[in-house]
Amino acid sequence: MTEYLLNIIQDRTLCSVAEKVIQGIAVSEADAVYMLTSDHILELGAIAHYLRTRLHGDRVFYGVNMNLNYTNVCELRCPLCAFSCDEGDEKAYTLSLEEIEEKVSHAVTLGIDEVHIVGGLNPRLRLDYFEEMLRRIKKIKSDLFIVGFTATEYDYFAKVNGISVEDIFRRFIDAGLGSLPGGGAEIFSPSVRNIIAPKKLSGKRWLEVMKTAHLLGIRTNATMLYNHIEKPEDIADHLSQIRSLQNETGGFKTFVPLPYHDAGTWLRAKRSTTTGFDDIRLYAASRIFLHNVPHLKGLWMYLGEKMAQVLLCFGVDDIGSTCHYEKVVHSAGAKTPDYGTESYLRGLIGNAGLKPVRTVSDYQTAKNRRT
Ligand code: SF4
Repeated sequence: MTEYLLNIIQDRTLCSVAEKVIQGIAVSEADAVYMLTSDHILELGAIAHYLRTRLHGDRVFYGVNMNLNYTNVCELRCPLCAFSCDEGDEKAYTLSLEEIEEKVSHAVTLGIDEVHIVGGLNPRLRLDYFEEMLRRIKKIKSDLFIVGFTATEYDYFAKVNGISVEDIFRRFIDAGLGSLPGGGAEIFSPSVRNIIAPKKLSGKRWLEVMKTAHLLGIRTNATMLYNHIEKPEDIADHLSQIRSLQNETGGFKTFVPLPYHDAGTWLRAKRSTTTGFDDIRLYAASRIFLHNVPHLKGLWMYLGEKMAQVLLCFGVDDIGSTCHYEKVVHSAGAKTPDYGTESYLRGLIGNAGLKPVRTVSDYQTAKNRRT
């Protein structure tokens, strides 16, 4: 495989990238920028697929979950966001604990393994609402895995409730939290962040919150939003900061690039939808650069099913979940259905010649799940 890889790569820079990957040497930010602007997507794919296969063989992970977007009321109103609104707006909602129980109970009858919770920054909601939410979800089905709240939300909860992020993590773990999603990272570069999400916590603070979680033994995802005003150098910087924290803590399990959709937002996208080359360069470069982060997720709901399937040959090993009730990306105009059946996701993976593995966010396949 190693010899095959070096034989098929003709481009000199990509050849040196392949050699570093084979030897387990971290590639440079200059390499990342080169990969992000290269038209040699088949060669990039060969390197990314080599790494993905070395890590996971022919396995591709997927989940059966529901999304719980508990409120769309948010103080920040980021220009990139189509989901949020002000209190009193006609589309504003905040779910009561009883409504949450009802939604989760219904999703349990559909066979979910996991609840993925994110929402807006609503000053009316205090810590006891969230703790009770987690407890009631666990009461419905004790082995439901809960992946809950972005670093943005934790930072806000800490400020509003006057306690540390660390204390919140301890209380939420006690109430049933399993792991953290990776949202709110966007792009760390301050000059870009100040335009796309000026009131959101800084990239530096996002990394601090994640570090606190990792040091408490909580594993997390990391995201990155692309296809807005970022340059390849901003992406390389973002990847580099994630890789550095990962070298320190080892707490990131998955990197999740998110193509930006702009319908209903105040910030125009670079393109209304990303091109195939854009996505392939981005995912393959991410897989190669983040050699120390085990999983790369290509969310079918953001990318479209066909692109997500193709990316399984460009570094992706996790295609996302069934996502019953997802609201955030669909508010911004994603054209994919608002949930995919398990058999459809398995079919996408199997049709790519790979082996579907049903799992939850910690990647520990549960005993009664099909593999
Ligand atoms: S992106 Fe998050 S923090 Fe920003 S407005 Fe939307 S819900 Fe609020």
